[in-house]
Amino acid sequence: MEKTIGVLAVQGAFAEHADSLNKLNVKSIEIRQKSDLTKHHIDGIILPGGESTVMAKLLHDLNLFEVLKDSIVSGLPVLGTCAGLILLAKTIVSDQNVYLGTMDIVAKRNAYGRQLGSFQADGQFAGIGKIPMTFIRAPYIESVSENVEVLAKIDNHIVAAKQDNMIVTSFHPELSGDLSVHRFFLNLV
Ligand code: GLN
Repeated sequence: MEKTIGVLAVQGAFAEHADSLNKLNVKSIEIRQKSDLTKHHIDGIILPGGESTVMAKLLHDLNLFEVLKDSIVSGLPVLGTCAGLILLAKTIVSDQNVYLGTMDIVAKRNAYGRQLGSFQADGQFAGIGKIPMTFIRAPYIESVSENVEVLAKIDNHIVAAKQDNMIVTSFHPELSGDLSVHRFFLNLV
């Protein structure tokens, strides 16, 4: 059966994820309000990059927060990129805030500082091989629990990980032109 992937589209780089899915001939729908999640069947969801604080506020304002969290806890496959990773983290370094908090990772926001606000690197991704990675004011994962599989590291920092139905990357796979991370996620769906 044809799969449909929801792309959270309240803020940030959601259009590029929809483009990536389109290139893979996968149907996507933009999730902008609660009814988009309750009235449509989706097989997975992408939480894009953007500004995690703004996205979290909008999730609450739009009444999307609880239904999204419940779906993920119930096993909906999710790919969180950059700010999406921060939304899923159970702990954020030097920050009292926890957003969806469904994944046993410790995320460090803006971890590369100002000088390295944005950069490219080629890195090894488990099960895929070497891929281009685009970082924009990116977080990295400071530590993970033992139930979390580390998928990629750059300079000894974790930049991609998987736990059950959740995959996160601190880079932006939708911006590099390489579709392998999306393909990897679709295998989980
Ligand atoms: N710095 C952003 C945050 O803290 C994440 C950046 C991104 O998603 N490109 O939410």
